[in-house]
Amino acid sequence: MKPCHNCQAVIDEYLLDKQLEPLRELTVDDFNLCHDCVTVVSDACVTCGGAVYVPRNESTTPDYCPACRADAIDQTGHDPGWTLETPSV
Ligand SMILES: [Zn+2]
Ligand SMILES: [Zn+2]
Repeated sequence: MKPCHNCQAVIDEYLLDKQLEPLRELTVDDFNLCHDCVTVVSDACVTCGGAVYVPRNESTTPDYCPACRADAIDQTGHDPGWTLETPSV
């Protein structure tokens, strides 16, 4: 049993797995956080309409789910980050 990196609670893999379910690409092994410290927002990905994972220390909801972010890195060779780039005017 690994402790949560954020709050030091023991990670309940069952609860975390349930929480991560909409993400599909991610499993409890990708996290060192407990279910209390993980935020998942459904239907928020601008590309696939799937759920996004909100990283800690991130104040805004990401526009890309982890899978689409990875796809973008594959296709363009650069990391788009979690949010759509706002064109500078
Ligand atoms: Zn925690
Ligand atoms: Zn997506």
